[in-house]
Amino acid sequence: MLKFCAMRKIGIYVQVPFCQTKCTYCNFHTGVVAKARFAPYVDAVCSEIGERQKFYLEAGVSLLASLREAVADTVYIGGGTPSLLEAADLTRIMDAIRENVSCNLEEVTLEADPETVEPEKADAWVKAGINRVSFGLQSFVDEELKAAGRMHCREDIYKAMPILRAAGIRNISFDLIAGLPHQTAESWKRSLEELAALAPEHVSVYVLEVDEGSRLGRELLQGGARYSAGAVPSEDRMAEFYETAQRELRAEGYHHYEISNWAKPGFESKHNLKYWRREPYLGFGAGAHSFSGTERWANAHDAAAYVEAIGQRRLAIEQHEKVSAEQALEEELFLGLRQLDGIDLTRIENEYGVMLAGRFEMLASAGLVEREGSVVRLAEEKLSISNEVFVELLR
Ligand code: SF4
Repeated sequence: MLKFCAMRKIGIYVQVPFCQTKCTYCNFHTGVVAKARFAPYVDAVCSEIGERQKFYLEAGVSLLASLREAVADTVYIGGGTPSLLEAADLTRIMDAIRENVSCNLEEVTLEADPETVEPEKADAWVKAGINRVSFGLQSFVDEELKAAGRMHCREDIYKAMPILRAAGIRNISFDLIAGLPHQTAESWKRSLEELAALAPEHVSVYVLEVDEGSRLGRELLQGGARYSAGAVPSEDRMAEFYETAQRELRAEGYHHYEISNWAKPGFESKHNLKYWRREPYLGFGAGAHSFSGTERWANAHDAAAYVEAIGQRRLAIEQHEKVSAEQALEEELFLGLRQLDGIDLTRIENEYGVMLAGRFEMLASAGLVEREGSVVRLAEEKLSISNEVFVELLR
């Protein structure tokens, strides 16, 4: 008898924690380092990919057999600013993935900053198999970019786009931030209009979140004028900016499929959907997170410590936990509700043996969520206050 075995698919994430400078609002574990450190870091990432089974075994991560044989269909090289790497180093990473993991790659994304895009580099990216570029634009307004400590200006965006298109990149995503210092309703609308004119296939809009781990956050708490903390729009203003983006992007034919993400039909991020759908992914590099379906773990985020550990042929794991049924249920709700298609309560109730309808009734009567049969989704006009909905859900 022929035994049918559904092949599991996984995503591969590669973290490149290097930037040219530190943006004022950034609290990520990324750093500005000498270029000489790039190649040894890439060596370490390639070793981790090649020897992952041994590393996992020694670090106590039990990878299910189904995952050991899984086929990677997405790769996401993020950071940091991975486009800072030499094209040859990115090619080495892609070669290491293809040589050591079963691959049927459909979507291979590189995060890039506009000022790092050059014709030779872009051609080499495409040769290496990269078919999607996620651009950290944040704004089209020079005053806002400068205040945020970004390295690029508006003109760099207009230089980079034709280079990428000429190289053959047919899937480009733009990131914008709503709430940058000096942003006004008018300047925000201008950024959205300029974005629409360049017609990227995908758009992410993030509402600025500053915490004390960033220079801007510290200035907001302690006072000062160096990072324009006094010019950060109010939370209500930011919510209005988000709602403007909802309207403008809809009018331009973008489908809103996740709280922060819009796509032209068929261009939803296959890789990021795995995170929201709780599908497995393996992360490589300093600070990279992985999820096997039953366990989550994260590598040491200090790049030097990561390289040193791999050099000693061990994996420095910073967090490692088995996901309990209770955690898994919470993830189903919070990650699921981020998607505008919503969650299927009947499926979740059956899978986890819980009753959820009562929990959502109150939210539905407050107009925070909508219910259609067994599907529950965030109400579209409440997306700008989704955090409040999540807080209510936890009560
Ligand atoms: S480019 Fe991104 S990761 Fe690097 S400092 Fe700026 S916000 Fe942080």
